[in-house]
Amino acid sequence: MAYEVEKPDEEWQAQLTPSEYQVLRLAGTEPAFRGEYTDTKTKGVYSCRACGAELFTSNEKFESHCGWPSFYDPKDSGAVELVADTSHGMIRTEVRCARCGSHLGHVFEGEGYPTPTDQRYCINSISLRLEPEEG
Ligand SMILES: [Zn+2]
Repeated sequence: MAYEVEKPDEEWQAQLTPSEYQVLRLAGTEPAFRGEYTDTKTKGVYSCRACGAELFTSNEKFESHCGWPSFYDPKDSGAVELVADTSHGMIRTEVRCARCGSHLGHVFEGEGYPTPTDQRYCINSISLRLEPEEG
């Protein structure tokens, strides 16, 4: 699998903080209800903290009360890559940045949230960077 943005691990480590590296490159998970964007309602675009690709927008963000920023759809369907994840004894769908392959979170569906897709992209705040809308 080749991504548009690929770097050796040491470059990612130099570019990212240790906590960013742990989540983005080692598929870690930040603690629930601690991430900086969990309850953020600011209008804007959420980009990949590793490569800057635009991934989600505030329009699709909703309050899931699960402890992580939740979106019912990505900004563009091609912006993220979905990968089957059977780690930790669970069958889940991992969400990665389609441009650099960095780990963002997981997507769940059929949970009954009143959103247009009934999907919940459960994304680590630390994987994203919010660029607030101007004016
Ligand atoms: Zn990326």
